[in-house]
Amino acid sequence: MITGITRLYGIIGHPIGHVRVPMTFNERFARDGIDAVSLPFDAAPERFSDAVRGLRALENLGGFVVTAPHKQAMVALCDEVVGEAKLVGAVNTVRRDPDGRLVGDLFDGQGFVRGLLAHGHALAGKRVFLNGAGGAGNAVAFALARAGVAAITIHNRTASRAVDLAQRVARAYPQCAVKAGPKDARGFDIAANATSVGLKDDELSFDVAEVTPSTLVAEVIMKPEKTALVLAAQARGCPTQQGRHMLDHQMDLMFEFMRIVVPTASRSSIA
Ligand code: NAP
Repeated sequence: MITGITRLYGIIGHPIGHVRVPMTFNERFARDGIDAVSLPFDAAPERFSDAVRGLRALENLGGFVVTAPHKQAMVALCDEVVGEAKLVGAVNTVRRDPDGRLVGDLFDGQGFVRGLLAHGHALAGKRVFLNGAGGAGNAVAFALARAGVAAITIHNRTASRAVDLAQRVARAYPQCAVKAGPKDARGFDIAANATSVGLKDDELSFDVAEVTPSTLVAEVIMKPEKTALVLAAQARGCPTQQGRHMLDHQMDLMFEFMRIVVPTASRSSIA
């Protein structure tokens, strides 16, 4: 039940109807006996800074998740930007400190990596094809390099963004061989979609007809739960990773960052 002392958490984006954060957070709050609620906030880009100013003023707001198209704009609106957000130049989680300071970090990439590792997919020394150099592509590329993959070839519809991302990742992680390349997933250990292609049922981010069945095909898109890419890869016999794992595996990091505390009584009853 929402009472006068319930803490507020949000997700801000535009549009907002497709997001899973309110469901996943509220399920976790209920499961762990946390007196908090997660709400969707729809803010158009031209009113985004007004919306953030309002959120900053709310004493009972603990923090909020930031989604498209605001992740880059949020950087300038934070009082402090830390961790991977600094490297990538995008924020997806904001903590509101008791004095109203807003601190931002980015957990998308770590969620992607943790999801793969949790499902038994080793990353060290692997060669990766990554389609997409937007917000998700940036986060995933930096996190994969940090996780120790040997090489990443990045493709993007707008080629200059792939070149720019490859150069920034290579500078930050010189031990990883990063370059921009064609949309060809053949010959890689892991092939990942980090574009928004696949939101519609029949769209395929890249061709998997000729990848070997040992190639792990990973997806960032959460809706549909199984994109055309995931279905095509499964039909080919490839192991796959769905987009929801990326969010599921960054929730612990987001909770910790926003200092959402599990009551002691609940903690001892959680297996
Ligand atoms: P973004 O910054 O707007 O980037 C969109 C990317 O998709 C760019 O690389 C863009 O290429 C490419 N693209 C869009 N339409 C295309 C088309 N018709 N053909 C080829 N490429 C196309 O968006 P984002 O933040 O990276 O988000 C991308 C997707 O990741 C979204 O579906 C989002 O929901 C999902 N996501 C999931 C999670 C999760 O936890 N699972 C986290 C973050 C994001 P150009 O550069 O050429 O425009």
